[in-house]
Amino acid sequence: LGTRISKAISSMGQAMIIDEKVLDGVLKEICTALLQADVNVKQVANLRNGVKKRVNIPELAAGLNKQRVIEKAVFDELCDMLDSGADPKKVELKKEKGKQHTVMFVGLQGSGKTTTCTKYAYYYKKKGWKPALVCADTYRAGAFDQLKQNATKAQIPFFGSYKETDPAVIAEQGVNRFKAEGRDLIIVDTSGRHKQEAALFEEMKQVAAAVTPDVIIFVMDGSIGQAAFDQAKAFKEAVEVGAVIITKLDGHAKGGGALSAVAATKSPIIFLGTGEHMDQFESFETKRFVQRLLGKGDVSGLMDKIQDVIPEDKQPELLDTISKGNVTMRVLKDMFESVLELGPMSEMMSMLPGFNSDLLPKGNDKQSQMMIRRYITIIESMTDKEADTTNIKTLQETSRVNRLARGSGSTPQQVLSLLESYKHYSKYATQALKAANLPKNLKSMK
Ligand code: GDP
Ligand code: MG
Repeated sequence: LGTRISKAISSMGQAMIIDEKVLDGVLKEICTALLQADVNVKQVANLRNGVKKRVNIPELAAGLNKQRVIEKAVFDELCDMLDSGADPKKVELKKEKGKQHTVMFVGLQGSGKTTTCTKYAYYYKKKGWKPALVCADTYRAGAFDQLKQNATKAQIPFFGSYKETDPAVIAEQGVNRFKAEGRDLIIVDTSGRHKQEAALFEEMKQVAAAVTPDVIIFVMDGSIGQAAFDQAKAFKEAVEVGAVIITKLDGHAKGGGALSAVAATKSPIIFLGTGEHMDQFESFETKRFVQRLLGKGDVSGLMDKIQDVIPEDKQPELLDTISKGNVTMRVLKDMFESVLELGPMSEMMSMLPGFNSDLLPKGNDKQSQMMIRRYITIIESMTDKEADTTNIKTLQETSRVNRLARGSGSTPQQVLSLLESYKHYSKYATQALKAANLPKNLKSMK
């Protein structure tokens, strides 16, 4: 998708004058690409009109880069579509003394509810909450065992029953139990069905009535294509959906369904699932998502910045290394150093493709900068061999972690957190640079 949209936009560069006709042609290309990414037909039409409204060609000042203007209009329209109008703060959990939150998960069978429940619980556990999991799925054989296994792995208390067949009864028992035990985040996992059907919706209503959740989270498989809008709408009509989590946005999922889910439920997306593992879970950021949807990553922006900072003769070398998947600690250090020179950390860090910004202190530039400096110091204390390896496992050995900590005046946790960042970074940087059509960029840089 991304390349197609980028191509459409850059093809304008070849047109001598950008007039209404050229814009229409470009928009047609973009709309086709969006449809292929599973964006809902109606939304695509809206986008088209929105962009046309935003971009008034005859009135554009001479000298303005029209291509950029159109590109930005497409970007802004997509961001607007993902804005549910609902206040995300309302679904964001806030710790209040004595307040016990109950959250109920709904979605079709196989959408990733049980997996996501645990990820969600684990995410908040790391933030200091006391989560607990309740299995109210009596429909799928083995459902309780699955939840039990996940919960045990994440060391989160769980509740369920092999005997009771009424999901509403189990849900109520579980919630009451954990309320009595003083848990502050009680998560109710429910059953699904293979398709939207009356029995499922009836069951959801009963469970919701039994536990009166603070928020109901709708979990949707991100790879279901054009079916997304109707599915999300059906769930919204059955229960009071307050937030959405899109799963399986790893692999080849195109993600256009997410826009449909927001449109159909008028609820914000709060997290994305990007794999089967517990930590493959990201808090949702609209701009980052749209960039990914457009296939750009933030790479193009990053490239521009890198061009400004890294000495010209070193650029091709650095990018070449990354594109070959040879991301080493040394490469990461170069990145960190260039990013430090560039200004506002939060913005810069979000430009590093795949960099897990959750690993940085939120909303505090000074702290982020200190953390990056700390990472650089740790990398500087490595031997050449360590700094140039792509084999992260050897760096994770306890004795080595301890030595690096001592050698750089850090804690072993800080070393481990650097290694964790590295893992994310090296994986995504390679993918994102590939998606960004690196060879072209490289050439233009030389
Ligand atoms: P449920 O029926 O809605 O409870 O769905 P499950 O949690 O049992 O998940 C169904 C399948 O999807 C399992 O094999 C999960 O491992 C897998 N799954 C869940 N979330 C993700 C994700 O974000 N990415 C990938 N690749 N697989 C996922
Ligand atoms: Mg399940």
